[in-house]
Amino acid sequence: MDISGDTKLVGILGDPVSHSLSPRMHNAAYDAMGLDICYVPLPVDPDDLKAAVYGLKAVHFLGANVTIPHKVAAVGLMDRLAETAVTAAAVNTVVNDDGVLVGHNTDGAGFIQSLEEATSPDYAASSVLIIGAGGAARSVTAALAEKGVPQIAIVNRSRDRARELQEMLSHGFPSLLTVIRTFDEDFEELFAASKIIINATPAGISGNLKGVPAAVDKFTEDHVVCDIAYANSQETSFLAAAREKGATTMGGMGMLIYQGAAAIRLWTGMEPPINIMRHAVES
Ligand code: NDP
Repeated sequence: MDISGDTKLVGILGDPVSHSLSPRMHNAAYDAMGLDICYVPLPVDPDDLKAAVYGLKAVHFLGANVTIPHKVAAVGLMDRLAETAVTAAAVNTVVNDDGVLVGHNTDGAGFIQSLEEATSPDYAASSVLIIGAGGAARSVTAALAEKGVPQIAIVNRSRDRARELQEMLSHGFPSLLTVIRTFDEDFEELFAASKIIINATPAGISGNLKGVPAAVDKFTEDHVVCDIAYANSQETSFLAAAREKGATTMGGMGMLIYQGAAAIRLWTGMEPPINIMRHAVES
């Protein structure tokens, strides 16, 4: 990479960011696109998020991605919010528009594009069960609600966060049916009634599904099962359990690639090279 005084910067604000595949994926894309742009990791403590976000303006970054645990807090630091960030109440992409920071959310679109690549969802006939209620669950459920799914069941470790997500969805999509359960409550019936089942927690990356869904042995071949966590190109134990039961499965790499591609479109106005990005994260 040839960095000069003219090189434009983008990066990823998170804590931690050392395991992020985004720098590798984005830099491969900019290289292939012939753009003088460099994408850097920006580790930021939660207490320093405000200074870091304002610093993007001061040092003329084109923008930045935002990841765990800052996506929700970043909402309040933007000068403007795009519709995608309002709906998900979370920001994963910041565009520095001549000193005006605009918050977007490309996670939901990334998830939908990946889902539609893996299967042909009939959204109106597909109830959803999501495990997890964090920033990613917000974007994914908002995108699915926009597509017209009739019901979303939220199963989360803590009730408070599940309720927050339920309130967000009920506010944005008044006709959507929502129901919440914690891990220690029975949700087998909801599991059986759902077509699309999503794990939006990091559990399962390291094979540790402790406590997560006792119902995982209830997967069937009718289910479409997604785990948005990714660990290089390894299959998570959640997806392995679903695949063994004949379910259609989808990992998190597609979502990672497509949310990144959408961010590149916002920063550059150009079409990113998906195959190069895929190769960068899967090799
Ligand atoms: P958050 O920290 O905002 O939320 C994490 C969620 O997972 C919470 O609901 C939390 O429950 C739950 N959780 C955390 N640890 C455990 C555990 N050990 N067992 C059960 N539940 C747990 O994170 P995000 O929502 O931003 O990210 C969630 C996952 O999605 C991460 O693995 C992340 O890498 C992945 N992701 C993937 C993307 C992609 O492009 N493929 C994009 C964005 C995220 P509680 O509320 O009780 O704390």
